[in-house]
Amino acid sequence: MLVKKITKEYIQNNLLNKTGKINSSKVSKYNKKEMEELYCIYHNTKPKTCPYCKEPSKFINFNKGYKSYKGYCSEKCFFKSITLRLEN
Ligand SMILES: [Zn+2]
Repeated sequence: MLVKKITKEYIQNNLLNKTGKINSSKVSKYNKKEMEELYCIYHNTKPKTCPYCKEPSKFINFNKGYKSYKGYCSEKCFFKSITLRLEN
């Protein structure tokens, strides 16, 4: 299945249930990477990168999105970045 051809409308009409959550039985054919792509299409976003460690943020699932602490991959990176800013 080519995820790139999928539109937001398709996701809305075919892959979500009435409450706006992903219908897991409809997306069982997609792997985690593809689910991440679907998430990005649906939310019109791009895979996130931590501004501190430059590692890509971990994708949790379609309903939860990316693991993020104030835009960083983790609490640790957020506080390290704050410390750096205070030192400069
Ligand atoms: Zn990080």
